[in-house]
Amino acid sequence: MRRFDLHTHSLQSDGTLAPAELVTRAQAAGVDVLALTDHDVTDGIAEARITADRIGITLIAGVEISVTWQGQTVHIVGLNVDTADHALQQGLARLREFRQWRAVEIGRRLQKKRIEGAYEGARRLAKGTIVSRTHFARFLVEQGYVRGMQQAFKQFLSSGKPGHVPGQWATLDEAVSWIRSAGGQAVVAHPARYKLSAGKLLRLFGEFHECGGEAIEVISGSHPPEATQHFARIAAEQDFLASAGSDYHGPDNFAGSEIGRALARPEGASYRDVARQKAWRGLGRLPALPDGCVPVWRDWEMTGLAAHKAVAGCLS
Ligand code: AMP
Ligand code: MN
Ligand code: MN
Ligand code: MN
Repeated sequence: MRRFDLHTHSLQSDGTLAPAELVTRAQAAGVDVLALTDHDVTDGIAEARITADRIGITLIAGVEISVTWQGQTVHIVGLNVDTADHALQQGLARLREFRQWRAVEIGRRLQKKRIEGAYEGARRLAKGTIVSRTHFARFLVEQGYVRGMQQAFKQFLSSGKPGHVPGQWATLDEAVSWIRSAGGQAVVAHPARYKLSAGKLLRLFGEFHECGGEAIEVISGSHPPEATQHFARIAAEQDFLASAGSDYHGPDNFAGSEIGRALARPEGASYRDVARQKAWRGLGRLPALPDGCVPVWRDWEMTGLAAHKAVAGCLS
């Protein structure tokens, strides 16, 4: 059986590995089909593609689009997007413009808290075009303002904290339509991570469906393992395809912790619980989709087969 990992980051956004390095590591970790899904940018795809073709692993061109839905930030992954698509690139460019403005603004707000040079520091740590809160968090750790990434978010960067600037990202409809315009499939990323009531999450899924969204991440490295069965059931009930991705950000755990809230285990969580969570989230370390899920890649295989048959037909 082929192994899929359909949600990963490179240093073009807030991951720590170059796209080529990510692809090489994914193959070493046993991944057969890898999607590179950087935040609001597709600049890493070309480099990843060259390495993937050379070493023989299937690369899916992807992106993780930042969306503001009912005042909350939600992430929508696009899979198999045509990176040359004009609507997609125009949309992403707009989000990056907001990101740039926001980064300067975060720096300004942190300065009011006597944290000097945060924007320049985050910019220096960002190796690609976008500056993310992850880069600010790394700066705060590096300069000793906080002990770790979690504390950086908790104290400075999360909603309501001094360095937080509310998002003005894409609408849900825009994100899905850009992905569809680019011939891709839209996927709700890590649905367990949003601060939404069960009812509101279902509303998000409903609207997502109406916009033309097709899939949800049933398996995410940034979910607690227990979330899998829950979202498998929702996918089945609401007719969503199921996706699976590690949300890998690089080999350093501090950098890869999209886990955030989901990892904040209830009191009494043992070291074993935390170890279990860590083991769960690595690149290529994902379990199979539960029975009853229809994989988001179902039609990819059919396409491959059809293409193969078409060629065979020509020859006969
Ligand atoms: P941004 O898109 O710039 O707002 O940054 C969001 C990114 O920050 C996410 O993609 C995660 O990688 C990271 N992140 C968010 N919350 C946390 C957290 N609590 N701990 C560590 N990383 C986080
Ligand atoms: Mn991230
Ligand atoms: Mn995300
Ligand atoms: Mn991600």
